[in-house]
Amino acid sequence: MYLDYQSAKPVDPEVIAAMTPYMAEKFGNASSLHEVGDWSTEALDSSRRTIAHFVNAREPEEIIFTSGATEANNLAIIGYALRNKQKGKHVIISEVEHISILNIAKYLRKNGFEVSTVPVDFTGTVRLDKLEERIRPDTILISIQHANNEIGTIQPVMSIGKIAREKKIVFHVDAVASEGQIPIDVQRDFIDMLTLSSNDIYGPRGVGALYVRKGFLLNPLIIGGGQERGLRSGTEDVAAIVGFAKAAELALQYMPEESKRLRQLRDKAIKTVFETVPRSYLNGHPTNRLPNNAHFRFDFIEGESILLSFKERGIAVSTGSACSSQTLEPSHTLMSLGLLHEEAHGSLEITMGRFTREADVDTFLEALPGVVKRLRDMSPLTKTEVGM
Ligand code: PMP
Repeated sequence: MYLDYQSAKPVDPEVIAAMTPYMAEKFGNASSLHEVGDWSTEALDSSRRTIAHFVNAREPEEIIFTSGATEANNLAIIGYALRNKQKGKHVIISEVEHISILNIAKYLRKNGFEVSTVPVDFTGTVRLDKLEERIRPDTILISIQHANNEIGTIQPVMSIGKIAREKKIVFHVDAVASEGQIPIDVQRDFIDMLTLSSNDIYGPRGVGALYVRKGFLLNPLIIGGGQERGLRSGTEDVAAIVGFAKAAELALQYMPEESKRLRQLRDKAIKTVFETVPRSYLNGHPTNRLPNNAHFRFDFIEGESILLSFKERGIAVSTGSACSSQTLEPSHTLMSLGLLHEEAHGSLEITMGRFTREADVDTFLEALPGVVKRLRDMSPLTKTEVGM
């Protein structure tokens, strides 16, 4: 039983069906001029149109296919910063960005740029007042996520976009956590660059995209045969791109119904946990959060031990970001909310998706109070707190 959709999603069977011909009979190189190449060129063009439509880009050429979200984030931030450093060397990100963005910020700092971070409030929402305070005459780029990949808080991207546009600062958004769950509109929200990943909408791994508004210049990070308007060289993986586009098409089609269903499951999970587990709390925004995300905190126990107890029962849950789960450090996102180390370590996340059934959530909810009680009975922290 799988309740960790944020870390990985299965590929939708319809996506696999759409990709298969492009791995077999339609295997051509999109740069070749013969008919077999043409099939791939046409598939690439049509996929680019689909992804452009997915985010409401004006033109398909504004979409650059990459190997995934990490590469798109690198291209957006490093590519833009290097190309435009004569305009200024100051970049702003939020404290709760994905680890890829935090490490890009470290790279920029080592290479002569200054990067300021904007704090969030206790719900995980970016503080707009603090963002405005950090803007300087040499600020060239603001990068803020659409929604948080751990706690699910949705950021006020349109307000941030307005601020950036007024100050003539380029605005990049990492939309990996939100794509397919809430609509994305780069024009409405004043977004200049936007990162997407295919697997997060039930497409194959190893492919993603960067939307770059027409007229913005970036330095490529991968140099070669000049594919993707010279911004990302290398023979395109047409089958993966076709799968990504099919996934985007399905996401648009399913989003209203799917989000409604997941929101109901999420709200049921939150309500039941509060009713059945004493001293339980919700991390992130109470309502303005991703439809599929419920991120809890339990006093006196570690999220990791709850995760392992569920693992024994064949239920996959998470303690937070899969990308940083190898470290023993508490999540930087939870620390930014103002939680103590032990509170951050007491967190457990469930994320649901297209193939989650209500019965799966019920099984989790039925098991949770017993798991928490057993761990609390064993925990020295409980004994200290209640003076046993
Ligand atoms: N941004 C966010 C918000 C993410 O959650 C992730 C991880 N899924 C990434 C970027 C990086 O994605 P990938 O590891 O697929 O490149």
